[in-house]
Amino acid sequence: MSAKVWLVGAGPGDPELLTLKAVRALREADVVLIDDLVNEAVLEHCPAARIIAVGKRGGCRSTPQAFIHRLMLRYARNGKCVVRLKGGDPCIFGRGGEEAQWLRERGVDVELVNGITAGLAGATQCAIPLTLRGVARGVTLVTAHTQDDSSLNWQALAQSGTTLVIYMGVAKLSEIREQLLAGGMAINTPVAMIENASLPHQRECRSVLTNMEDDAYSFALKSPAILVIGAVAACKTSSLWEHGLPAMGSEHTA
Ligand code: SAH
Repeated sequence: MSAKVWLVGAGPGDPELLTLKAVRALREADVVLIDDLVNEAVLEHCPAARIIAVGKRGGCRSTPQAFIHRLMLRYARNGKCVVRLKGGDPCIFGRGGEEAQWLRERGVDVELVNGITAGLAGATQCAIPLTLRGVARGVTLVTAHTQDDSSLNWQALAQSGTTLVIYMGVAKLSEIREQLLAGGMAINTPVAMIENASLPHQRECRSVLTNMEDDAYSFALKSPAILVIGAVAACKTSSLWEHGLPAMGSEHTA
């Protein structure tokens, strides 16, 4: 049997947002390496597996990436069923691409399993349609935090006409605001800041571009949070109805 690693997305936090395939992988796992954004409640699907926490949140004590790579390789070569479990989707700001490549170069089979990424989950949980006919023709996922401090093309983002979903932005609110304003985005562009999306302690703070930093401060916004910037960020359950979307159930008529 050839060595194999599953790179699995655990979704944004709510255990009911796990995919059936992720549950199957967890049930088969001998070893599960988990990131710290994974809700440990999902581990109920792998009660017998060995759980290894390899989280590495910005600013905290971290597990070096090379160590994680070697750990996966060692267990896989020993014939263990290895699941690398990541918050959200493994391939959205999750190093899924680089881990898969590293393992494949060493002859390990890799199976990638989608998870619901935090940006999409957070928006939907707050009744924000990231795309909306006549309002937002697309959505752009970006990270505000780059390892090499390389800069995004903020002007292009400001003028893209797409909804922006920004990951890892809590410590960069001032820069995001300034760059988007400098790039020509309107001061009253709606903003939603969503903390702990899909978890029982989810919180949302609605604002507009020019006030987002002050409002986040008053709200004591903390990581993990995503920012949704664009006209659709003004939508709430009731305004969806006002936009004249087809009724999908009584909850949309609130
Ligand atoms: N692979 C993950 C993203 C990892 S990067 C995914 O697809 O969701 C880490 C960032 O994701 C955090 O800084 C935050 O911006 C976002 N994030 C992860 N989980 C979140 C949650 N439950 N609520 C809000 N943001 C979250």
